[in-house]
Amino acid sequence: VDPVVSVRDLRTYFVHKEEEVRAVDGIDLDVYRGQIVCIVGESGSGKSMTALSLMRLVPKPRGKIVSGKIMFHGVDILQLSEPEMTKLRGNEISMIFQEPMTALNPVLTIGDQIAEVLVHHRRVGKRETTAKAVEMLQFVGVPRAEQVLREYPHQLSGGMRQRVMIAMAMICEPKVLIADEPTTALDVTIQTQVLHLMRKMRDDFGTSIILITHDLGVVADMADQVIVMYAGQVVESANADALFEEPLHPYTIALLKSVPTIDQETEVLYYIPGSVPDATEFPTGCRFADRCPLAMASCFEIAPEVREVRPGHLVRCHLVD
Ligand code: SF4
Ligand code: MG
Repeated sequence: VDPVVSVRDLRTYFVHKEEEVRAVDGIDLDVYRGQIVCIVGESGSGKSMTALSLMRLVPKPRGKIVSGKIMFHGVDILQLSEPEMTKLRGNEISMIFQEPMTALNPVLTIGDQIAEVLVHHRRVGKRETTAKAVEMLQFVGVPRAEQVLREYPHQLSGGMRQRVMIAMAMICEPKVLIADEPTTALDVTIQTQVLHLMRKMRDDFGTSIILITHDLGVVADMADQVIVMYAGQVVESANADALFEEPLHPYTIALLKSVPTIDQETEVLYYIPGSVPDATEFPTGCRFADRCPLAMASCFEIAPEVREVRPGHLVRCHLVD
């Protein structure tokens, strides 16, 4: 089987104060039908910019996809015209964001916003639109759906807005759903419900989901495949069982140690000293070297390449060479 999405050597750079910021610096990624792929890493690792690149929504004019391929069903979307991309976006590939208020239009009712998506992509009539919108709102667990269609975003709770945004993202039954920290702003109960809902999308529609999170609890709960990003690169990639049972990259190991345990009050039990290097001047050697407890002299000199340590388990570290 071919992957639904296949990314090769994706690079997305920014200009910031006349300097070049290498936010995404050579990412490879494969997503298969019905698979949930989690991208993890600290803030500044390039996760969100990877997501925006996949939608071709990198903020202009500062940001630019400078090279690579993003294959969607065998077509490189980086070669599509903007009108062709507009047809794909929200239809074949959808995205949900951390804060739904930024994605929802405050002056349109929920019903009008959902209708806009359907009319744009499906050219369906009004009655059919309403029926489909109600059906989708019910699917995502919005009670009294008919009434909600007549309401504005500010009239809904955060959890309800997030459901509405998922309903909008799913209404055209996209093949790929990209979710950037979709539950971070929600309380724990709602978070669990939204994650459950995303799994249901996958189970019922075969949607492939790319879930971006810094929360390893969410990863453990959701992921089939895990991609660990650091300083714009993939440092480890494996199926979820392998990654949790035998993490190989020192950064992944450090991240896993930072997972809070259930019976602890403190949020962070372990943190990784230091911070992600400045993306305008990455070090010559391993980008994690100055924080790595296992760094050797050569790590500061030579940048490690990605190695396939076992079938499907990729690691970027000299220790596995
Ligand atoms: Fe640590 Fe060296 Fe591996 Fe980088 S290459 S993660 S510094 S051991
Ligand atoms: Mg982010």
